[in-house]
Amino acid sequence: MNDLALLIDLHRDAERQGPGGGDETRLSVTLSDLRKAKGLRIADIGCGTGASTLVLAEELDAHVTAVDFAPEFLDQLRIAARRKSLGERIDTLAASMDALPFEDRSLDAIWSEGAIYNMGFENGVKAWRRFLKPEGVLAVSELTWLTRERPADLERHWLREYPEVATASAKMAILEANGYSPVGYFTLSERCWLENYYRPMQERFADFLSRHGHSEPARGTVKAEEDEIALYERFSAYYSYGYFVAKRVGD
Ligand code: SAH
Repeated sequence: MNDLALLIDLHRDAERQGPGGGDETRLSVTLSDLRKAKGLRIADIGCGTGASTLVLAEELDAHVTAVDFAPEFLDQLRIAARRKSLGERIDTLAASMDALPFEDRSLDAIWSEGAIYNMGFENGVKAWRRFLKPEGVLAVSELTWLTRERPADLERHWLREYPEVATASAKMAILEANGYSPVGYFTLSERCWLENYYRPMQERFADFLSRHGHSEPARGTVKAEEDEIALYERFSAYYSYGYFVAKRVGD
């Protein structure tokens, strides 16, 4: 099994594949001001097993297209949607976020939690704008510095792993430069990282390792996650995911 297949195997039985929370998705929905709208068309990009997709389908009068490049995650999402009687409101699309098949101006909103970094925040917001109707909503969570200054070790780490990491004001400037107007911002709490994401992941490590006969690549996958968790535990005061809600403007 290659590294990507191992990662998918480690994460497919999880409720979420990144930091987040139902309350936080609901808060983004409130900020989007779409609660009273009818017949919305929404895409949830990089949806994983669909933690946010399910909330969107529950909270809004909407049809949600859940997009991910990993069909294994989408299979789990469809099972969860059926279980919650949301199957009719959700369909899944296995596609890459940088080659989406949506028509121009066809979507009322795009959500994307903890995933846009895969194509880079700026590339993503540029590429996805054309799919939104004028005034359409973009709601994304993205790695964000919480302070103006931070320890050098931490800065080095993230500049190597994700050079686009920046403060919220810098991210908002990127939104403004690319035809969006920010309408809301908040940060994910520690609970979103620890209780909702890292702790359940740690509980899966033992089974995962035994399933893969403690192979070197499997141990490598676990080690990389453990290092990420240790980094978060040490430096959570300095970074989180910022949740940015914006509207398409300038048409
Ligand atoms: N939104 C989910 C998953 C976040 S993890 C949650 O918050 O739980 C990032 C997700 O992006 C993974 O499910 C991964 O499979 C997906 N992904 C990574 N690169 C992608 C790409 N190029 N196109 C589509 N999806 C991608």
